Amino acid sequence: MLANYGYQDASGDFFITIDTDKCNGCGDCVPVCPAHIFDVMDEDPNDPMRDEPVAVVVSEKRKKLKYDCNPCKPDPKPPLPCVEACKAGAISHSW
Ligand code: SF4
Ligand code: SF4
Repeated sequence: MLANYGYQDASGDFFITIDTDKCNGCGDCVPVCPAHIFDVMDEDPNDPMRDEPVAVVVSEKRKKLKYDCNPCKPDPKPPLPCVEACKAGAISHSW
């Protein structure tokens, strides 16, 4: 399942997507994010049938991703720490 966290405003779409079929709950995305955007939950809040841990975007960050991720995204955009850390390839950004 694709879990989309974020929002849209007049300047664009600002979503982080976690592919919960790929995420194995390893937690590698948590310490590399300078904005503390990720957490790993023991149970998937979006899928009560899932038993394994899964990464989520913490709720208080979901409406400010454009600003919190901005330091990681100068132009030209380097590889993102979260995407680089996720060996499962579960994290993507819409912008
Ligand atoms: S690094 Fe990737 S696989 Fe590991 S918890 Fe984060 S999103 Fe899931
Ligand atoms: S781009 Fe940077 S601030 Fe945004 S989620 Fe990834 S590591 Fe965290």
